[in-house]
Amino acid sequence: MILILPGAVYYKIQLYKLTYINTYFQKIDDDYISKNQKKIDIYKYDLAFDLYPEKKMFIAKAILTGKILDPTIPSIDLNFYDNFEIKRILLNGVSTDYENEETKLSIPVNSFSKNEFKIEVEYEGTPKKAGLEGFVFGKRNGTSLVYNLSEPNYASSWFPCNDIPFDKTFLEISITNDSGMVSVSNGVLVDVTTNGSRRTYRWKTEYPISTYLVAIYSSDYEYFSDEYISVDGIDTMNIEYYVLLDKTEKAKKDFSGHLEMLNVFSQMFGEYPFVKEKYGIAEFLWYAGAMEHQTITGVSSNMISGNKFFEDTFVHELAHQWWGNAVGPKSWKDIWLNEGFSTYSEALYYEALSGKKALQSTMMSKYSSNFSGSLAEPGPFLFTRTMYDKGAWVLHMLRWEVGDSSFFNILRTYYETYKYSNASTGDFKSVCEKVSGKNLDQFFEQWIYTEGQIELEYETETIKSTNEFLNRIQLGQIQEDYEAYHFPLEIKFVFKDSTEKRFRYEITSKDTLIEISTTTIPSGIELDPDNWLLAEINLKDE
Ligand SMILES: [Zn+2]
Repeated sequence: MILILPGAVYYKIQLYKLTYINTYFQKIDDDYISKNQKKIDIYKYDLAFDLYPEKKMFIAKAILTGKILDPTIPSIDLNFYDNFEIKRILLNGVSTDYENEETKLSIPVNSFSKNEFKIEVEYEGTPKKAGLEGFVFGKRNGTSLVYNLSEPNYASSWFPCNDIPFDKTFLEISITNDSGMVSVSNGVLVDVTTNGSRRTYRWKTEYPISTYLVAIYSSDYEYFSDEYISVDGIDTMNIEYYVLLDKTEKAKKDFSGHLEMLNVFSQMFGEYPFVKEKYGIAEFLWYAGAMEHQTITGVSSNMISGNKFFEDTFVHELAHQWWGNAVGPKSWKDIWLNEGFSTYSEALYYEALSGKKALQSTMMSKYSSNFSGSLAEPGPFLFTRTMYDKGAWVLHMLRWEVGDSSFFNILRTYYETYKYSNASTGDFKSVCEKVSGKNLDQFFEQWIYTEGQIELEYETETIKSTNEFLNRIQLGQIQEDYEAYHFPLEIKFVFKDSTEKRFRYEITSKDTLIEISTTTIPSGIELDPDNWLLAEINLKDE
């Protein structure tokens, strides 16, 4: 997900400052998930929505098939907002009692003996605003546009579900609207049927999906597409675009980079995870950004400009298909595995296109000298700059620590190991250590489990001896919240004839004296010249 703030005119430089601060109502409620919810496993959601945009309401049916993992639980507990009129609920074909309060739906299980269950819920009403959006009956220039944004835990504001990211399922969605409307969802389009003035689009995904990534878009969309061929040449996949008429020409320009992005990421990380289905983008009306719904990213109308102004966001959302969607977070505490990875993927993409300078400039645009909080403990506010930008910096530093070959091997192994399931920070660490052969306790401790970043102060002096120069560099770590970071530091010497020499040192203590002999006197000494470190580095005041 990317959040931006509204404004008539967007300037990139402002956006970088504003992008991630809009976090105050993304609060995770501690008792949203009951204990019993972790003791069931949903296999599949079959959802049907009959949309009535003029009345801002739908008539819906949800069929959940699943299994009870612990036979001692007294009820099947789900998440479902209590503002709908529930027509009936069937448990294994039989009408059942239930309790629906606030965000919980609880169905007693004393009436059947098997572990497998099928729950059918028929309901209707107007969804409540939930989180950043929830389910929205919107309008742009008089055209109705229905969409949703559920991340992190607001899918239950429009369908009953086990709203835990690791309970991944299969999914089928039918969306019915006026026959002029095109309805889009995850996976592939199975069929379109027209009944009088109403038209139904049926979508299906056979890749496991988390509830927060389930999406509906329905509007008077124009459609255009592109074609992607898998790295092994076997699969041909559609890249599908759905935008309103007045955005079509702009969208064709803005979205034209997706083929290249898919090629770059599929070669870098491993084949696009949903290659048997599709990648797509649908215009939606969330004023503040874009959302990586599985196989069908939502992009704000505001971001379709015709001049690729927001291409980095499109790169970010596509990267989420690997990081967040295929490899899901085990819990919301692991959000940096979604956001840090997708943010770093922006830098990796621009590096793949334009080289090392583009990598550096992208990383510097995400630099801050005061990230607050630790990556491992996001607390109730998930979408902070720390999760996105510090997360990206930590991956950048991991790459510097283990080297390019190990780093890209780590990404590919992590993806291959956890795709279509979920991973935690600990799982990622295990992959890093296995692939690199290094103990990374210190790295994870200082960068992921602890708040803060490096502050370095240094002074240099060059002493002439008989036939060489002795260069002394006195380094001090002066950050207050961490005694001594361990990191590889590169030092660059530049000489008058513009030649240069680089040295790499493992720094492991608060104060370090480095001595390097050179045959000529250096005209400049630079620390971390290629910006591999999340560090403030300053020459000590005299
Ligand atoms: Zn994101």
